[in-house]
Amino acid sequence: MAEKFDAIVVGAGPSGNTAAYLMAKAGMKVLQLERGEYPGSKNVQGAIMYADALEAVIPNCRRQAPFERAVLEQRMWLMDERSHVGSHFRGTVDADEQPTRYTVIRANMDKWLSGKAQDAGVLLICETTVVDLLKRGERVVGVRTDRANGDILADVVVLADGVNSLVATRAGLRPPVKAQDVALAVKEMHFLPKQTIEERFNVSGNDGVVIEMFGKITKGMVGTGFLYTNKESVSIGIGCMVEDFKSAGVSPYQLLEELKSHPSVRQLIAGSEVKEYSAHLIPEGGYNAIPTVHGDGWVICGDSGGFVNSVHREGSNLAMTTGKLAAETIVQLRDEGRDYTAANLKRYRSALEQSFVMKDLKKYRDVPEILHGNRQFLTTYPELLTRAAHTMLKVDGVDKLTKEREIKRDFVARRSRFGLFGDAIKLMRAMR
Ligand SMILES: Cc1cc2nc3c(=O)[nH]c(=O)nc-3n(C[C@H](O)[C@H](O)[C@H](O)COP(=O)(O)OP(=O)(O)OC[C@H]3O[C@@H](n4cnc5c(N)ncnc54)[C@H](O)[C@@H]3O)c2cc1C
Repeated sequence: MAEKFDAIVVGAGPSGNTAAYLMAKAGMKVLQLERGEYPGSKNVQGAIMYADALEAVIPNCRRQAPFERAVLEQRMWLMDERSHVGSHFRGTVDADEQPTRYTVIRANMDKWLSGKAQDAGVLLICETTVVDLLKRGERVVGVRTDRANGDILADVVVLADGVNSLVATRAGLRPPVKAQDVALAVKEMHFLPKQTIEERFNVSGNDGVVIEMFGKITKGMVGTGFLYTNKESVSIGIGCMVEDFKSAGVSPYQLLEELKSHPSVRQLIAGSEVKEYSAHLIPEGGYNAIPTVHGDGWVICGDSGGFVNSVHREGSNLAMTTGKLAAETIVQLRDEGRDYTAANLKRYRSALEQSFVMKDLKKYRDVPEILHGNRQFLTTYPELLTRAAHTMLKVDGVDKLTKEREIKRDFVARRSRFGLFGDAIKLMRAMR
């Protein structure tokens, strides 16, 4: 007879590790299955990690976690082909406030969090892929793995297998992930001496800088670029919606090469040694793309449930929070002696609705549709704004009023008065 556990967790990313850790800490017999060689071996992230979400799982995480740099400065760049206009935020609101964002290297981070789960009693088995779910009628009762005699039973299964969500899809628990709801991102790690990073980004100690980039770098496709400082490396990447890559016929690699040679970026990575190249999908369909998140004997969390806030570039915190809420629901039901039926696990959905996860996703629910239907936000406006900055800052004997009129004429010529008004309304609707 197949071995039986209280719970099986599929995947050892932030959502799976959090769920496994909290259930084991509450005394449950937990098995965690990971297809990679070790936790984090297959995972890709920018990567900014959000400490408060981690702190809610591992108190005092700031003293133990393998963080690279605390994000002291955030830059936002709106770019055309040769220049950018941007904004900076540097510092913290209060001097004694702890940073809430840190850059990390995911392989180190996932191994560390998984270590906590194993210390709490989780049995982790790597290099094992879950190929299907075992069902009795509609009820999920375990998993089928790719190992010989690989069926394993459990009272409840936590699906935390990432963006493709293949296990739930194959078992008919959710529809397949649509190309229009996922972005493909590519990333490189550029190694530089610590001192060079500190000089180039004007930071010291463990402080760091992150740069989020938008505009013509994505050639009209819906997407963004990023550059994050680690201790002795810089992560640089760019991603766009899969559907856009298909119709534009542009390769992600080509976009990244162009980003690296952009005049605003080139000097920041000059002389670096590239040691890693990776590509990964990100679920960016938002609120409207979230599937059913629970059923008889199962729950879904993290990327496999589509929990990513693409407007704020948050994914790992939503993964950890959904993993935590799933584990808390399961532990609560166990303590009350209740079965893991769909009706009882509905509490997980209610907890999600009460949390920042669903509130934020709901707030930005119209963003994907508005960006898809209004490419001017990614092409025309970055160009107009960089040109306006150039015009105003050029000291060429032309008076400032004439320059202002020239800028206004430029905006009206490209978008029309009616178009400008309509775009303002659309932006307000997207961000309301
Ligand atoms: C380029 C890029 C940059 C990003 N930047 C950021 C950022 O800066 N900040 C941020 O918060 N988020 C960022 N994200 C998003 C973030 O990485 C994800 O939201 C987060 O990793 C989701 O965690 P997860 O545990 O749900 O899934 P994952 O981290 O994808 O983990 C899923 C795990 O399941 C395993 N698995 C899959 N299928 C199976 C199977 N059948 N059987 C067994 N194991 C399986 C995988 O190997 C993997 O270890 C970024 C993503 C990308 C791609």
